[in-house]
Amino acid sequence: MEVLSPYKEATDVILEAGGEPLKLCYQCGLCTGTCPWNTVRSFIVRRMMREAQMGATDFGSEDVWTCVTCRACVKRCPRGVEIIDVIRAIRRAVASMGIGVVPDALRISAKNIAGVGNPLGEAPEKRNDWAGELKVKDFAPGTDVLYFPCCVPSYDPDVKGVARSTAAILDKLGVDYGLIGTDAKCCGEAIRKAGHEETFQSLAQSNINLFTESGVKTVLVSSPHCYHTFKAEYPELGGQYEVVHVTQYLAELIEKGDLKFSRKLEKKVIYSDPCYLGRHNDIYDEPRAVLKAIPGVELLEFPDAREEGLCCGGGGGRIWMDTPKGERFSDIRTEQAAEMGAEVIAVACPYCVLNYRDSVLSMGKGEAIQVKDVAELVAEAI
Ligand code: SF4
Ligand code: SF4
Repeated sequence: MEVLSPYKEATDVILEAGGEPLKLCYQCGLCTGTCPWNTVRSFIVRRMMREAQMGATDFGSEDVWTCVTCRACVKRCPRGVEIIDVIRAIRRAVASMGIGVVPDALRISAKNIAGVGNPLGEAPEKRNDWAGELKVKDFAPGTDVLYFPCCVPSYDPDVKGVARSTAAILDKLGVDYGLIGTDAKCCGEAIRKAGHEETFQSLAQSNINLFTESGVKTVLVSSPHCYHTFKAEYPELGGQYEVVHVTQYLAELIEKGDLKFSRKLEKKVIYSDPCYLGRHNDIYDEPRAVLKAIPGVELLEFPDAREEGLCCGGGGGRIWMDTPKGERFSDIRTEQAAEMGAEVIAVACPYCVLNYRDSVLSMGKGEAIQVKDVAELVAEAI
């Protein structure tokens, strides 16, 4: 009987993740040329794909943890290699099969998620405390919409405004919505991309059971990462829901004439496409339609907007890891936004809010530029 070594098993998992297209990789290097890391440091994606093909992955390399899963390379690959799936499988080999080393910060977040169901390590019973005096009702069978804000706006004091603004808008419009109980857990998107497949499966199953028992049909989300997971990954595990991102919801209400503004904002606003809304799910127009509808807003565009948009640097579990100064994509974007005269960087993802607010603060640009989620801007103008 053949005894599989962890390395042999890991190699099989990686080859399987890449499927047939990985075997077709002809080393053109377009992925490396597209990858935004190569504007700030060297990251040879092509070589990783070659090593994955050959079963010779360097599991100890720092490169294993570099990818932000922005999908720019996948969009350009002429052979259809699902590069993110290959990198996820390499990480899985390191995280779940005991090969190589998981960065400390990621290990702590993974432990928090597995232990208390959120990456911040906060108490599960405090998940809905962000609502405070807004007194949002609990979701019950028959409620139209479940609002699922994501762990970051639920717990992080600097990002709670995203959830509170969304709730204030829904209240003003009289939407029948509720919050799921404090048994809800992280959607699991980032921890799966960071290679913790078993943790993801457990989180997903727990959320699916909770949603199904509660009679959830429509989930409204603030995070493109929750959007992607609920829409693309939960169905194969038995969770079928209509999933709507807040920007889609607001754009539809504006189009129907159901959302009216009463204040002017008079701001130059530049929109940064979140990778999991844009490249992963092709949602580019709705956030822009919402911003353009706000009276007084002048919408600016980065030269490399939409499909070419630069990631904030927070995907693939990188939000929990430290990125050295000089390598932060959100710093590059903030500098660009300042040069273009923007007064507000508008985003539609809690990870973007975190990264951009950190950049603006650490670059000393807090007087000149604010970072706002689209929902926060809408709440200010209605
Ligand atoms: S772009 Fe695709 S085919 Fe070209 S090196 Fe990268 S993975 Fe291989
Ligand atoms: S997904 Fe983005 S960060 Fe990851 S290898 Fe591709 S281009 Fe680079």
